[in-house]
Amino acid sequence: MSCVVANHDSDLKPPRVCMRFCVLAGGSKGNAAYISDGTTSILMDAGLSGVEIQRRLQFLGLHPQDLDAIVVSHEHADHIHGVGVLSRRWNLPVYLNEKTRLAGESQMGRLHETRDFECGLDFTVNTLRIHPFSLSHDAEDTAGFTVHRDHLKLGIATDLGIATSMVKLHLRSCDAMILEANHDSGMLETGPYPWYLKQRISGRCGHLSNEESRDLLAEVRCANLRHVVLSHLSEQNNRPETAVRAVSDALSDGKVSLSVAHQQFSTPILTIE
Ligand SMILES: [Zn+2]
Ligand SMILES: [Zn+2]
Repeated sequence: MSCVVANHDSDLKPPRVCMRFCVLAGGSKGNAAYISDGTTSILMDAGLSGVEIQRRLQFLGLHPQDLDAIVVSHEHADHIHGVGVLSRRWNLPVYLNEKTRLAGESQMGRLHETRDFECGLDFTVNTLRIHPFSLSHDAEDTAGFTVHRDHLKLGIATDLGIATSMVKLHLRSCDAMILEANHDSGMLETGPYPWYLKQRISGRCGHLSNEESRDLLAEVRCANLRHVVLSHLSEQNNRPETAVRAVSDALSDGKVSLSVAHQQFSTPILTIE
């Protein structure tokens, strides 16, 4: 899929670059996002079965053979379930950090190729520059990411217990964000989960609530922010409309499109340019 936008005001100017992305699935049963600048296309996590990810890509007119890599945030099954199958079937290199690789290797099985990254250090997949940064979560070494192409910046943080100052620093000045809004605090508190699970979810190494997501957005949003996709919503302790209502308080001027990722189907493809 070409992502180059013709520049009509002058033939002499180079064409504008853009980035397209969608959340193929978001939630505790599987997470995956597709990101492309038209030259390089990656999957960010592959937590559904390989067949289901392929089906969702094809529904959007995309094909796994056009992918260049899979980037993995952490070893929880809802992020790596389809990594092994897709890597082997489509000869895709898998980018992940060492602790995640060691913790996830038995689940993923043999991979076509692995390339280790280190949180805090940039790496590139062809034309995309990716910066991984640490998230507070109960896995070995969970990463959030900013994905860059020229001036464009997409931020992704979907499994985090708290928004640390480092998270805020990295998510500043994004053109688009895929951000966790896992639960409504009241629903979690009064809901059916056992006490220990409520503690885990709301703790420093758990998941971000709607209210925390709103506060984070209010703090980091910049004038160039165009799209926010709320992701990893709990089916038990949240509702899409509840999450949108809570988070929209931080985006009240109407310049930002706010949408929700679903477990059962992909979001539409969104574009920043
Ligand atoms: Zn996780
Ligand atoms: Zn997760």
